Amino acid sequence: MTHTNDTAQRPIGIFDLTSECTLRCKHCYFYTDISDIPEDLAEDEFLHRLRRTKDAYGIRSAFWIGGEPLLKPDLLRRAMDVFPRNAVATSGALPIPLDLDAGLLVSIEGPRDIHDALRGRGAYDTAMENIKHLPEKSFALATTLTTLSVDAISSFPDLVASTRALGMLVGFHVGRPDDPARLDNQQRDRAVDTLLELRASHPGVLLHSENALELFRSSHRRDISKRCIYRESAHAFDVHFAIKEPCTFAENASCDACGCPVVMIHAAWQDGDPASGELLHALFPKRQTASVA
Ligand code: SF4
Ligand code: SF4
Repeated sequence: MTHTNDTAQRPIGIFDLTSECTLRCKHCYFYTDISDIPEDLAEDEFLHRLRRTKDAYGIRSAFWIGGEPLLKPDLLRRAMDVFPRNAVATSGALPIPLDLDAGLLVSIEGPRDIHDALRGRGAYDTAMENIKHLPEKSFALATTLTTLSVDAISSFPDLVASTRALGMLVGFHVGRPDDPARLDNQQRDRAVDTLLELRASHPGVLLHSENALELFRSSHRRDISKRCIYRESAHAFDVHFAIKEPCTFAENASCDACGCPVVMIHAAWQDGDPASGELLHALFPKRQTASVA
């Protein structure tokens, strides 16, 4: 993590709202080195630094991650007031407020056995309980494919139907080359084939366009890392507003095997794919209530 004097404009900010989380998922990039994780600031100081950071970089869209941002729902609401567009990622481990004026991604890794193997026993049932109060299509499911969960792709249509989600956003685990959860090139390319088949047989289940899915193929990996949103359009910040280099995955980033769905969708949009542009706007919806900051 670095503090920097670079103040080039970046329209997208990815913020750790808190360093705390109720889970310890097997594929988590955040807790691989807990000695390196800063403690949360007092809330007023957090908001003060947030506004300063927004102004310094001209950030318009904020993505709230962590840790678990719903551990601090009041701070989250006040922080989102600072930006015209917001999205929140949650594990679903905590009650989800109905009044979040933001795109909402709830992590589901597949059926109960696979989800719990990655996220801990009981995590699936808790997430399902917390999802069931949400209005239909007001949120998306998000999944990160690992060696443990890649065979769960066929379960996605039932998961989307049973939760009444908008659809599923798929990424691939970004880990170091020796990480057992990381798919190798062949496994990844086969998974892309399966995802494309699913997209054709079950329209609407996957949120990605065909072009955005194709960019996950191992043959695109070098090109994608050169066009990553973190090169010019985004910064990731820890809870002290230090920039995480090269991206939110910090020391666990593996640019030669990037699996971040937003990177692929953004690159497809740059390639002239209008569906990917529409998806980005849907994931980061414009606030319906006026910003107060
Ligand atoms: S919910 Fe997210 S931050 Fe928490 S342990 Fe799991 S992957 Fe890590
Ligand atoms: S690992 Fe991070 S910096 Fe590297 S290409 Fe992916 S999102 Fe970009």
